[in-house]
Amino acid sequence: MVLKVVIVIIAAFLIYVFLFKKGREKEINKKDEMITDEMVECPTCKTYVSKKEAIVSNGKFYCSKECLLNK
Ligand SMILES: [Zn+2]
Repeated sequence: MVLKVVIVIIAAFLIYVFLFKKGREKEINKKDEMITDEMVECPTCKTYVSKKEAIVSNGKFYCSKECLLNK
């Protein structure tokens, strides 16, 4: 019973994260260059990622470990 509740909460959280990420990507595409924030393009998958979330390697910002390894 408790396990079921935990699974539902995790599923809801994942859906929330997915939707939030998608919405944010759309927003970034719309505003594009207008964002002088700290958005950097991942050289591997061309996704924009904030410097706070990015993984830095040799002065380049990667969105994830996978992209860093597949560069
Ligand atoms: Zn990437």
